[in-house]
Parts: sequence; structure tokens; C-alpha cells
Amino acid sequence: MKKDLLYEGKGKKIFATDREDFLIAQFKDDLTAFDAAKKGFEKGKGALNCQISAQLFELLEKNGVPTHYVKKLSENEMLIKRAEMIPIEVVVRNIATGSLTKRLGIPDGTVLPFTLVEFYYKNDDLHDPIINDEHAMILELAQNEAELEELKRLGREVNAILKPFFDGRDLILVDFKLEFGKDRTGKIILADEISPDSCRFWDKNTGEKLDKDRFRQDLGNVKVAYEEVLKRVLQ
Ligand code: UDP
Repeated sequence: MKKDLLYEGKGKKIFATDREDFLIAQFKDDLTAFDAAKKGFEKGKGALNCQISAQLFELLEKNGVPTHYVKKLSENEMLIKRAEMIPIEVVVRNIATGSLTKRLGIPDGTVLPFTLVEFYYKNDDLHDPIINDEHAMILELAQNEAELEELKRLGREVNAILKPFFDGRDLILVDFKLEFGKDRTGKIILADEISPDSCRFWDKNTGEKLDKDRFRQDLGNVKVAYEEVLKRVLQ
């Protein structure tokens, strides 16, 4: 069933299958931050991200968000639908932290007055710069403005589902990054992953960071934090 390796990214390997429309995503144990200038390894991290992502994709599908997720195949592998990836990182923010505080001087932890959706151009050589709709159109990252509006709508929709889901599990969904692709009919579907590598979670009671910031900021206990997120997702 699993065939050639098609692509290897920082967090996942993508394999072909014997069916043209389906691929296998294998989640890696590698950790990278700051444009891969910082590298690490955490045995079992890939399996945790795979399980967390699978649960969240299932939740989103149940709530009407189309995703590339088909089913889990093993601890660290899932079957996904083939999609032509859109090279835009859609970042959704509820609370200011990270690059937003640095760029605009908004104090860390400020609750934003509304959900902020940003686009970043997925391009390693350019270090994933922030872009607006017009940049996206000039770069031909989308076919028309309606597609960009659809990315924003889906970003807000995912937030509207995940924010209360995590709140009920005593986790604050601070911000997260989504990637989308087009299936063979041209429909925009959610792809990539939703995990502590791509989201920020703060414990509602203690404020403790339970995501990749533990690696970025050398806070230790990276795997323990990811295990805690999985436990709460499954609760
Ligand atoms: N993020 C990501 N991949 C990236 C950049 C950001 O998954 O290449 C996520 C990050 O984990 C956070 C959100 O997007 O949940 C916003 O990140 P931010 O722009 O604050 O970037 P950072 O401070 O991590 O550089």
C-alpha cells in the first residue's frame, strides 16, 4: 500500500499509495524552530501529533469543515486525500504573542478584540513573509479573491469549532497555523496538521505553555506537554 516517498518536510514525510487520490502522511519526531535554525528530536512526538491531528480533523469534519483526513493507519501515519497545496500559511489568532507582539508592539497576552486572520507566503528562501491579499494575487497564490476569502472564512470557522472545544478542556487556544489544498474537483480542503507544533495552547488555570514554545524557549518537558494536550483532546 505505501509506495514512494514523494516529499519530506520538517514535520512529515508524504508517501504515494497504490491509489492515485490517496497519500500517506508520516509524522516525524524532529522539531524545528526559527526557520529551522534550531533543531531537535523528541522520540514519540510524531505519534502524539498524528493522534492529536487525527482527533481534531475528525472533529472538524463532523462540524462540516472539509479536510484531507481519511483515517489513521498507525501510531504515526494517516491516510490523506491528495491535494494541490496552496503555498499560504493561514494564521489565526485569539491572543497576541510571538511574531505579532514583536512586529506591532502589542503586549504579550493581549486578548484581541476580534479573531485575527493573517496570510504568510510559504517560501523558505524568503523566510515565510507576511503578505496581504494583493500580494497573494500578484504572486498568483490564489486564482481569485474569492479563494482568499474562502481561506479566511475557513480559518475563522476552524477557530469557532476548536476554541470552545479546547476551552472545555481547560486549554486556551492562543493562535494556530493552517494550510489548505485543492482536491481534484478544485474544492479547498484543510490539509497539513493541527498539533502543538502548529498551535499555541496555554493552560487555562496555570498559564503553562503546552506547545512548541516549550522547545522554542527551552522550557523543557516538550513531550510531557504534548502528551497532556493529547490527554485533554481525548477526554
Ligand atoms: N506557526 C507555524 N509554522 C510557522 C509559523 C507559525 O505552525 O512556520 C504557528 C505557530 O506555532 C503559532 C502561530 O502559527 O501557533 C503564530 O506564529 P507566529 O507568527 O507568532 O510565529 P513565531 O512567533 O512562532 O515565529
